[in-house]
Order: sequence, then C-alpha cells, then structure tokens
Amino acid sequence: MTDTAVLLEKAAHLNSPNYAPAPVIFDHGQGVRLTDTEGNEYLDFVAGIAVCALGHANPTLVEALRDQLGRLTHVSNLYYSTEQIKLLEALVAASFADRVFFCSSGAEANEAALKLARRYQKVVAGRQDKTGIITMKHSFHGRTLATVTATGQPKYHEGFEPLVPGFQYVPFNDLDALKEVIGRDTAAVMIEPIQGEGGLRPADAAYLKGVRELCDQHGALLIFDEVQTGVGRTGSLFAYQHFGVTPDIMTLAKGLGGGVPLGATLATEKVWQAWVPGSHGSTAGGNPLACRAGNTVLETIARDNLLENARARGERLQQGLSKLAERYEFMIDVRGIGLMVGVECQDDYARRVVEAARAEGLLINTAGGHTLRFVPPLIVTDADIDEALERLERALKVVAD
Ligand SMILES: *Cc1c(COP(=O)(O)O)cnc(C)c1O
Repeated sequence: MTDTAVLLEKAAHLNSPNYAPAPVIFDHGQGVRLTDTEGNEYLDFVAGIAVCALGHANPTLVEALRDQLGRLTHVSNLYYSTEQIKLLEALVAASFADRVFFCSSGAEANEAALKLARRYQKVVAGRQDKTGIITMKHSFHGRTLATVTATGQPKYHEGFEPLVPGFQYVPFNDLDALKEVIGRDTAAVMIEPIQGEGGLRPADAAYLKGVRELCDQHGALLIFDEVQTGVGRTGSLFAYQHFGVTPDIMTLAKGLGGGVPLGATLATEKVWQAWVPGSHGSTAGGNPLACRAGNTVLETIARDNLLENARARGERLQQGLSKLAERYEFMIDVRGIGLMVGVECQDDYARRVVEAARAEGLLINTAGGHTLRFVPPLIVTDADIDEALERLERALKVVAD
C-alpha cells in the first residue's frame, strides 16, 4: 500500500463517523490550487466551503498571522486586544450594526443571535411571551441544538429530539406563508438571503422587503444569517446590501477569518440593550489571532477590489455554466449571485459530477443533494474560471457517456 492508502485506512478508523470525506489527503495549497499527498493538483472551487476567501497560503494573510503569532494569540474576553478593537471598528463602519459579539463558528454566531433576540423581547420590549422564532424550510443555521432546531430540514433533526421549543418553519420566498404564521408571539424571523446548504437559492428582493415590513408590523426582529453570503461572497460586502434590506441582527463566520475560525454576531444598539455583562460569552471568541485574520481579510478585500472581482468572475462563471447547461440536459438550472453559484441537476447527477470533476482536478461539492456548488476564493481569476470550466466539461462528458 502507498503511504496515502495507509493514512486513509487509519483515518477511516479514527475519525468520528459523522463525515464521509473523499479519499484525498491534502498537503499544501497556493491561491486557488491544492496539492494532495500523491502530487495531484486541483482547482479548489469549494474553498473549504466558502471559507478561504483569500485562497490558500495567501502571502498577505500568512505574513500577518506569522507576525501575530509572535506577538499575541489569546487573552480571553476578560481583556481587550488591539486587533479585536480594530475589527470591531471595521465591522461597525462597514455595516448597519453598532456593536459586535465574536465567537469561532457560524453555529455559535447564530446561537448568540437567537439568544439575543429572545432576551431582547423579554428584557427590552418587556414581552415575556414573545419567544417564537420563525425560520425557512430548506434553511441551514448550524449544528448546536438551537441552531439545528432553527435549520428547516428534518434530516438534521433526526435522533436529536426533543428539539428547542418555540420554532416554526415556513416556505422560503413565500410571503403569504410567513403572513399566516407571524404574530404577537414572534420574537424573530431568521433567514439566509441566499440559502446555501439548502441548494443555492437566492431570495427575491421584493420578498425580503416584505419580510422586513412584516417584522416591523409585529415587533419581531429580523435576523440575516450571512455566515455563507457575507464578507464579499455576493460581490457586496454583505448580501443585505445587495438586496437593499437591512436586518436587526446579522451573523458572519466562514469567509470572515479566511480559514482561521472566527464568527460574529452584529446588531443595532437597540437590540444590544438586551445584554449585560454575563449574558453570554465565548472563551476563544475574537482572540487576537482570529481578529488579525479578520482584519487582514477585510483589508485585502478593499485593497485588491475583491468585491468587483467577485461580481465579474461570478458573471463569467455563470455564463460558462449556462453554456454547458445548453449541452447537458441534466443541468436544469444555473443560479446564484457573485461567487456563490449553483447548478441544479436531475436525479443523482450532481453527486456523480462532483466525483468526476475531482478526477479531472476540479473540486466542487453538492448542496441540497441535487445542486452543484461553486464558491471559489474571491481572488479567483478569469483564467482560473476558464480552466475550471474546461475541467468541468471533461467531467460532464464522462458522466453523460
Ligand atoms: C456553514 C453555515 C452555518 C454553520 O457554520 P459553522 O461554522 O459550521 O458552525 C450556519 N449558517 C449558514 C448559512 C452556513 O452556511
């Protein structure tokens, strides 16, 4: 057996059984490319599931993190660090929010948002019974018990009942359905502006405006889960800016740390009145290393015009995919915004294309079972896009034959 085969065999026995990784072990990366332990090179259009915003081994990020490791990694939230204050200032300046809570993952950011919304209704609005949370079918909000409850997909709930009480689910992009359910007891509505894990489904702008109005009518808070859509992915820094609808609470993670675990919950001053010292916390949340990563990601997006890059490269990607969809009948819909692009496929074609693409040196994955997901690093070039489309075409031929 090769060294790689030995390692894969070992991992299969030691790794927790909740994942099913592809039989590949990565050794190093550079930009949009990854190299495995056998020396094979791949174009990475998964980017650690929309995490590696600046690509792999980005020289600016590497230099910043090296410097930060030699300076200060962690002090806890008993104290401030200069990097944390810098990131607080940057996120507040760039968004609707007045204050920010830091954590280390998307689930934690959403957990904080849900706790913040419930406590806001009780403590600030004085409504003890206003505890209901409405989320969308096919949504994804994380794997903690509250965020998995918020996730509107039964397969994520199985075996974990009893779930957290007070959650209801309505169809996405259906304002009438929300109108039926929202009421006096609704604390918050939580929504992804583009459903990610559920299959790359963008909301209609008119729908989000309607959701905002319904929340205002009923005194409910509007939470945008921008864990996947945030930090430049859509060609706007945050997707709420693209849609022109401002939430009361927004959550970030994935791309924010560019690969270093970092999550954030952002909200207006009105909402933050709900929390006092001790209301919530996270030991490692917002540590100087993670915040240095966040600051570097935001600075690099601005310095290198990566929002414009996400818009232009995303358009080229969608155009190329649409051309391929004309020739391959099983590709039934191409959709997305910026560099968050999906191709819905018939039957089990998506899964087969993912495997065939990997064999051709292109990493993509599926979302919602039937949709191919393309979320390359924001630094991707036209040449990378064209090469990915060529590799994809070879994979499509294999699958179609
Ligand atoms: C990935 C994701 C999460 C969960 O983030 P973790 O860092 O895995 O906890 C939550 N919401 C959305 C929209 C996501 O895409």
